[in-house]
Amino acid sequence: MIAIHGINVDKAGRCEHYHQVNDIVGLKCAQCQQYFACYKCHDALKDHHFVACAKNDLPAICGACKHTMNFQEYSLGHCPYCQNKFNPKCSLHYAIYFK
Ligand SMILES: [Zn+2]
Ligand SMILES: [Zn+2]
Ligand SMILES: [Zn+2]
Repeated sequence: MIAIHGINVDKAGRCEHYHQVNDIVGLKCAQCQQYFACYKCHDALKDHHFVACAKNDLPAICGACKHTMNFQEYSLGHCPYCQNKFNPKCSLHYAIYFK
C-alpha cells in the first residue's frame, strides 16, 4: 500500500496542518515521487521544496482508500473509488500541487 508522508499523519492522510474530516487527499511531489499530506509537511521533512506534478501523472491519492488519482479524478471533489468528499479549499493551492 502506498504511504502518505507528513507530520502527525493519521491513517486517512490528515496532518498537523490540515485535519478536518475531508482533508484526506495526499499529493505527490514530482521530484521525490512520494505522496505527502500537504506541501508544508513535505517542505519540513525534505531538503527541497515541493515540486508540482503533471496533471496526468497521478498527482493525488485518496487517504481513505489509497487509490491514486489523476487531476481529472481529483477534480470531481470526491473520490471516484470510495466516494469520500475532499476539502474544496484545496483549490486555493492548485498552483503548488499541479502543473
Ligand atoms: Zn519532494
Ligand atoms: Zn501538513
Ligand atoms: Zn477513496
